[in-house]
Amino acid sequence: MELTSGARVAVIGGGPAGALSAYFLVDLARQTGIELQVDLFEPREFTLTGPAGCNMCGGVISESLMQKMAAEGIILPKELLLDAIDSYVLHTDSGAEAIRPIHDEMRIASIFRGAGPLGAESQHPLPWSSFDHYLLGMATGVGVRHIPRRVRRLDRDPEGRPRVHLQAARGEESADPELPFGVYDLLIGCVGLNGSGVRLFEELGFGYRPPKTDRAWVAELYMGAEEVHRRLGHAMHIFLLNVPGMKFAALTPKGHYATFIILGEGVNEEVARRVCHSPRIRELFPEGWETPVRPCHCQPRINIGPPHRPFADRVVLVGDCATSRLYKDGIGAAYRMAKVCAYTAVTRGISAEAFRQGYWPACEEMDQDNALGHLLFSMDGLLRHFAPFRRAMMAVIRAEQVRPADPRRLSSALWDTFTGSASYRLIFRRALHPVVLFRLLVATLRELLPGRRSH
Ligand SMILES: Cc1cc2nc3c(=O)[nH]c(=O)nc-3n(C[C@H](O)[C@H](O)[C@H](O)COP(=O)(O)OP(=O)(O)OC[C@H]3O[C@@H](n4cnc5c(N)ncnc54)[C@H](O)[C@@H]3O)c2cc1C
Repeated sequence: MELTSGARVAVIGGGPAGALSAYFLVDLARQTGIELQVDLFEPREFTLTGPAGCNMCGGVISESLMQKMAAEGIILPKELLLDAIDSYVLHTDSGAEAIRPIHDEMRIASIFRGAGPLGAESQHPLPWSSFDHYLLGMATGVGVRHIPRRVRRLDRDPEGRPRVHLQAARGEESADPELPFGVYDLLIGCVGLNGSGVRLFEELGFGYRPPKTDRAWVAELYMGAEEVHRRLGHAMHIFLLNVPGMKFAALTPKGHYATFIILGEGVNEEVARRVCHSPRIRELFPEGWETPVRPCHCQPRINIGPPHRPFADRVVLVGDCATSRLYKDGIGAAYRMAKVCAYTAVTRGISAEAFRQGYWPACEEMDQDNALGHLLFSMDGLLRHFAPFRRAMMAVIRAEQVRPADPRRLSSALWDTFTGSASYRLIFRRALHPVVLFRLLVATLRELLPGRRSH
């Protein structure tokens, strides 16, 4: 089962995983002399503001992803990058500490996935562009056909080739709610986790089960560019606070806006309200500033566990609906997996066995690394509930920052935990380095000495 010239491929979903899968597939196939016909189905209009154009995300991309893309000739244009973030500030119930990465090139950038938050359309013309629109343009630029429609059902023809049925458009509804569209040699599912897309693949009956998910909370808060930079600087602000239900929260500068994200098990409006009113967060907002009653906000699902069997003969799933990275760098993960998937399809073929041998090991590697991420995040209870340890950690970070020659292992482990693309394995190795453990032990013992204030 192989791709040959003239083979038809359907990519369902045009977020980062879909656009990049289509792009890499056409590009790699062309390099081996194969011309494919690739249709990409995506109903969302990324040039619209608000939910209609947005794939719900914090919009932070790591420097390493930008460098990887640049090395492959994908240079993100300036109007996509709203802020260059060069440091972060860690806020805990015991205070705040500004942390700079060890290497100057470890910068991250913030972007809007769609055309920006609801209400931004009043700024005309918009001073930024949509990241997802750009990636989709890259795919159509190499010859991918964008079909701006929602896929309603998938099945197989008598020879086992996947068939795509579209949701009828308004005018077409009276005839049939479903339009048979075409038969394909390969179907790539990149439907994310925030719609009914995964159900289409479950219903194909090859044993796929979507990953475990959690809810997050994201809001775009308008403050004006001057106020955003006065309050937040060019830093991402990370909050490890003792608020039940929250794992961590982050406030990221993005032009005129600050993007506020809360992650944790079962984050809901009530947890979001409590977090927004916590004094550590309020002190970053302008005096007397009130969260708008209805800021552009959403509660997307986030991938927190491995999928079951995201491939079959002629079918494979990529991106959030399959394997992603725990709590960070989802776009970088989509980039990596799209590439591995395309490479497998072109070089090994499109049978279940080809995907099991060529694509699945990369998913397993990421999932195993995520297991270490879960372990790392489960240790945050120590940080939240044991104030002497929290203060000790802040003291170690502070000491690392003022020693110019220090390898700053703990600081960079934290930077990579929240922002970077480094593996959790590497983060563990840095955080559990004997020097870090020794410093933490000494600082904790110091905190436990009688006479130390606890808070
Ligand atoms: C709160 C939060 C914050 C995040 N912050 C970051 C961050 O700062 N940096 C980062 O790198 N990652 C972040 N992520 C992760 C990132 O958003 C995802 O990893 C990334 O969007 C995955 O891309 P995708 O293409 O797999 O899915 P998506 O981006 O969800 O795209 C799926 C696409 O499929 C389309 N689709 C669905 N069903 C159908 C259908 N039936 N027919 C046709 N099309 C369909 C949808 O319209 C959508 O466009 C965050 C995630 C969350 C939840």
